Amino acid sequence: MKGVREFMKFVTLNNGVEMPIVGYGVYRVAPEETKDHVLEVLDAGYRLIDTAQQYRNEAGVGEAIAETDIPRGELFITTKVMSNERVAESLEASLERLQTDYIDLVLIHWVMGDDLATYRVLEDYVRAGKIRAIGLSNFYGDAFDEIVSNCEIMPAVNQQETHVFYQNKDLQEQYKELGIYLEAWAPFGAGRENMFENPILAGIAEKYDRSVAQVILNFLISKDIIVIPKSSNPDRMRENLDVFDFELEAEDVQTIEAMDRGESLFDWFS
Ligand code: NAD
Repeated sequence: MKGVREFMKFVTLNNGVEMPIVGYGVYRVAPEETKDHVLEVLDAGYRLIDTAQQYRNEAGVGEAIAETDIPRGELFITTKVMSNERVAESLEASLERLQTDYIDLVLIHWVMGDDLATYRVLEDYVRAGKIRAIGLSNFYGDAFDEIVSNCEIMPAVNQQETHVFYQNKDLQEQYKELGIYLEAWAPFGAGRENMFENPILAGIAEKYDRSVAQVILNFLISKDIIVIPKSSNPDRMRENLDVFDFELEAEDVQTIEAMDRGESLFDWFS
């Protein structure tokens, strides 16, 4: 296996922590299948694993962390918490389930309850060395502003639904100014709207002799957007990592930019 630095691009977060720009999300991976699934994902070359307390599969991720030969320092583990008054307790439980002394990135999963109080607990955990970076997920508008205006440690990322049909162009600009990375959840829109069969994307993919999936990921990472695609098919897992050695021409970038509909395909958080 090649060293991860030979094929992966990293971003440097606003606190100096390096994060792989392509990772793997384990949403909807069944708890009893998670250990083997994550070991397969690591074998394919992924080092960033994105889980959440809500996914109920942190323990499987932890078993894979314990079992793999890959040094802990090469892995980048993200989990997500929900705001509640027992968030510190829940973080201790996550650390235990993940079988690790520290978590690389912890996000507040979505707006709920007293998120500023939760964020303050995350800040304490950063100071204690148990979390390396903190951020948000699905925070827009006032909820986002409240944290950014009152925090002591700036969020390193905001993980949002982002794909070619919903590009969050305004957020891309705003976050660059704030030094926050946009992280795309569902970078393929979970396949909705026939994204993989889209004729415009298929035409561009053909031109570069790449797959539609690779064109989508290449487009997003060219904008410094961190992506966490998911596929349980081992060939596709590898395909989704093989996205660094080509560059879309400006006209193709513009064509994809014009595909933005500015609307969620999920509507979970609106
Ligand atoms: P996704 O956009 O990654 O799409 C997954 C779908 O694309 C699957 O059906 C898969 O079979 C297909 N696919 C993947 N690679 C392919 C390829 N190369 N060719 C053809 N088809 C391919 O959607 P997702 O799984 O919903 O999201 C990815 C991750 O984002 C999740 O696992 C999770 O970690 C994260 N997420 C976070 C939130 C949040 O609220 N923060 C919400 C949803 C998802």
